[in-house]
Amino acid sequence: MGDATARPDAALLGLDGFVVVATAEVRGELELLVETTADLVGCPGCGAVARAKDRRPTWVPDLPLCGRPVVLCWWKRVWSCPHPLCEVKTWTERHKAIAPRARLTERARQCQRFGERSSRSASATQRSPGSLRSWGWPGGR
Ligand SMILES: [Zn+2]
Repeated sequence: MGDATARPDAALLGLDGFVVVATAEVRGELELLVETTADLVGCPGCGAVARAKDRRPTWVPDLPLCGRPVVLCWWKRVWSCPHPLCEVKTWTERHKAIAPRARLTERARQCQRFGERSSRSASATQRSPGSLRSWGWPGGR
């Protein structure tokens, strides 16, 4: 099974390049243990095929799923270069969906920014109730 998106858990998560390894409910939040699907990685210094060295968990809040708050626990890989003379000894996995040291996943951050814009425009509407009347909306009297 090479296509990660064919897995129902990956389809529910909807984050390209990630699969769900385990789930748990922690203090009312849905915690999803995720990992990337990367298994063949080149050293950024010399291009040699990297060796998996370690893993580090990183917790990042994501978008809610079915109305429940979600926290991703990204089980990040630490890779190492096999060449003793290469200057790049080890490095931690990166992904565009979760910036290094991010406090939210990228899509949750985008959603939050959109929400701030929406609530600003909603409060602008509340400050000028006359606008509904001027548009001829029947409820705006
Ligand atoms: Zn290297």
